[in-house]
Amino acid sequence: MAYKTINPYTNELVKSYPDATAEEIESALSTGYALYKKWRNESVSSRAVTLHTIADLLRENEDELAKIATIDMGKLYAESKGEVELCAIIADYYADNGADLLKPTPISSRNTGDAEILHQATGVLMMVEPWNFPYYQIMRVFAPNFMVGNPMILKHASNTPGSAAAFEKIVLEAGAPKGSLTNLFASYDQVSGIIADPRVQGVALTGSKRGGQSVAETAGKNLKKNSMELGGSDAFVVLSDADVDKAVDLAWRVRIYNAGQVCTSDKRFIVADNLYDEFLKKLKENFEKLVPGDPMDPKTTIAPMNSKRAKEKLQSQIDRAIAGGAKVYYGNQPIDLPGQFIQPTILTDIDKDNPEFYDEMFGPVAQVFKVSSDQEAIDLANDSKLGLGGIVVSADPQHGKAVAEKIETGMVFVNSFLVSLPELPFGGVKGSGYGREMSQLGLTAFTNEKLIVTA
Ligand code: NDP
Repeated sequence: MAYKTINPYTNELVKSYPDATAEEIESALSTGYALYKKWRNESVSSRAVTLHTIADLLRENEDELAKIATIDMGKLYAESKGEVELCAIIADYYADNGADLLKPTPISSRNTGDAEILHQATGVLMMVEPWNFPYYQIMRVFAPNFMVGNPMILKHASNTPGSAAAFEKIVLEAGAPKGSLTNLFASYDQVSGIIADPRVQGVALTGSKRGGQSVAETAGKNLKKNSMELGGSDAFVVLSDADVDKAVDLAWRVRIYNAGQVCTSDKRFIVADNLYDEFLKKLKENFEKLVPGDPMDPKTTIAPMNSKRAKEKLQSQIDRAIAGGAKVYYGNQPIDLPGQFIQPTILTDIDKDNPEFYDEMFGPVAQVFKVSSDQEAIDLANDSKLGLGGIVVSADPQHGKAVAEKIETGMVFVNSFLVSLPELPFGGVKGSGYGREMSQLGLTAFTNEKLIVTA
């Protein structure tokens, strides 16, 4: 049994889940495909009521759902509750706007006929999702494609099976037909078989480069459309005119949220030289105040990592960075608790030849760099194999925007947290993947953009 909940705070095995059988896989495919055919004869708006009910049920069951997520992967209970609410917001958004956004798009053409693009469903989708936001990652794909009429099969991370099962239960309890979303505790081979099946027309994955490469290869071999939301090593650029207190107040929060295990959590802090010393000192003061402990306890402010494997990986990255010349400005001390904790850590003096310079550190570690001009900040921000998001901080929003425009990523926020909202597209460039989730772009990620010309 590969799918297990091991509480990352107590290290206890909470529950194991049975592996998916060949019969369950066939049933998910045939039920999903039959539903796709049925939905093709129904209006998009007919699904909005169910999506609103899903949002209502998420809110009604917020406490229980949040507890399941926290026990699965260790995030702070308050953060789990926020995640459930965000899922409800996404569901409501697509229920309210999906039908309008999917209306045919007229094209003015020199042809004699009327031309329009229909945004039609294409078939069953395979969804492969990670543990770090165990509900939100599903909802980003589920809500738009439920409105479109693409039924979905879910393969969630093997350490968040409780959240996967709970999400599926809410969907079915809301009255969504069987096959709308089928959660399978599937192996990698079984996922490959599902992708190859002719009833499946697309694959959406959020995860690592390694997972993305493997799943995209299978999708490519079978000519299935796919979107890849992969990692990020985003830059947090503090320009020389920034208010350092405001910058630090954003910086420590973005780095610590979800124990630093967020693809868009900035990992490289690029600070103008006139503010560098003060920034470092104040970042450290905020990290020092963090309290590790039980993520269910409201007094806890830094959560454990999601698993032993994740903690060991991050610790080995810190060790490698130090061996390569990095200095520990703060942190990197053991935490005397049973859970998978990494002390929030600040690293400086990471040169380009440091083995960790190009690596994504997926946990509460801040790499801080000093630069002497905007151009140097932009060049350093862009010297990355990844290109997901980023933040620029400046006293002058136009100055910040001018720098943001030069950063080679999919999303940049000026003087703000990088927030994920249903009306805003989410995704990256370079090694961070391709395609966009959420917004209208996410709604049409797996549609048939079908041209009809009527003479
Ligand atoms: P993984 O890629 O290992 O896991 C993500 C999902 O992919 C899991 O469900 C995993 O299953 C599955 N998976 C991995 N390989 C395969 C395969 N060959 N075939 C089928 N399924 C597969 O990622 P991590 O757990 O390491 O997650 C963290 C990574 O995800 C980070 O790099 C992070 O930046 C990125 N990420 C990106 C986000 C974005 O939106 N761009 C958001 C969040 C995270 P299993 O658990 O069974 O191994």
